[in-house]
Formats: sequence, C-alpha cells, structure tokens
Amino acid sequence: MTDDGAEGREHPGRNTRGAVVFDLDGTLLDSDAALVAPFVALGVPEEEITFGHPVEMECRRLGITVDEYVDAYDVSEAMPFDGVADMLAALGEWSVCSNKARASAVAELDRLGWSPRVAWFADDFGGDAKSLRPVVDALGVGGSNVLFVGDTLHDQRCAEEVGARFAWAGWNPRTRAGSPSGVVLDRPVDVLRLLHDDLLDDDLLDPDRFGDRRRR
Ligand SMILES: [Mg+2]
Repeated sequence: MTDDGAEGREHPGRNTRGAVVFDLDGTLLDSDAALVAPFVALGVPEEEITFGHPVEMECRRLGITVDEYVDAYDVSEAMPFDGVADMLAALGEWSVCSNKARASAVAELDRLGWSPRVAWFADDFGGDAKSLRPVVDALGVGGSNVLFVGDTLHDQRCAEEVGARFAWAGWNPRTRAGSPSGVVLDRPVDVLRLLHDDLLDDDLLDPDRFGDRRRR
C-alpha cells in the first residue's frame, strides 16, 4: 500500500491508492424537482427540460441566463438519496465532478455538512461540459484507480475518457428506468461493497464505521 499518487499511476490495480468521485445532481442529491423548478418559474415548459448538461448550456438552450437560474434555484430543497449520507460518512475521502453552478452546489454542500476533497463544478470548466481529467489530476491518482459514480450517459463517457471505472447510481429511479448498461448499483452502500470487493483499496473506508467490511 502506498500513499504516493505517482506510484499509483505506474502500478494501477488493486493495491494502489484509489479515489471515488461522484456526480452531484441525480447521484448524491435527489434534485430533479429542485433543478426543474427554476426553469418552470422562469416560464420554460417542463417537458423541454433535460438532465445531465452544464447549467450554462441548458440555460442558453432554454433562453434564460445562468444568473436568473441560480437566483431562482432553492438551495434548501434537494435532499440526499436515502443512504447517501451514511455512505459518504463511511468513505475516508471522496470528490465531486458536477455540471452544477458552483454557487448552488457549494451552498448545498455546506448545508449538508459535506466536504469533498476535490470539487469541480460548471464554472470550473469554463462553460464546457465537465471532464474528469482535472479532477483526476488534482487527486494525483491514475484514472484506472478512480471509481466515478453518476446518473447520465455523459457521466459514463467522462469515466471512459480517463480510463476510470464507472458505476450507475441505480438508486435514482430515473437512472434505473433507462436500463443503463454496465455496473448499476442498487443502493448507495453498494459503493462501499464495490470498493471492498472489486477494485480499489479499502483504506478509503472508515474502519470505525465499516470495520467488518475491511475483513475478508
Ligand atoms: Mg447528474
């Protein structure tokens, strides 16, 4: 085992340092309704709204400004999916890669008392769709040692671009209804099981909370 990220890049595999990165909306947060509400309040027909795009692109497509959207977004509304808070608490560290506006996302993270190690949001990508590359670089790990958990095809492509493992947040009914291909996790706790059983190092798990999961 090593804490040296550089060594992890040279020797990807089970016994190298790993990292878990999450999408935010639709993955950690049950936020579809909260995301739709500002558009509807600003006069956009609900059926025209889609998910998984950078906030800037979606606002431009729907004819409103990001400032209007962010002002209308209620940062107190979206709650974590059941089991997410416990899962995050059991992870030693975790990171976020999201297309959400930074102002909204930071307010929600603060409200929930969540502190990702690395957090990249829409503003950090200069209006482009998000990418895992800068997140992986900031973490100092190899892409193959990263597990990315998300709820959209774009999330899946982000993982593929950096050679990361990808798992679907199947606890989101919208995601599950799309019958996605690949690893679909039923519950947030399954992230911990995946780390333990399949791919990364279980140093990421807090032994005080998940001691039994660290023993085989
Ligand atoms: Mg999402």
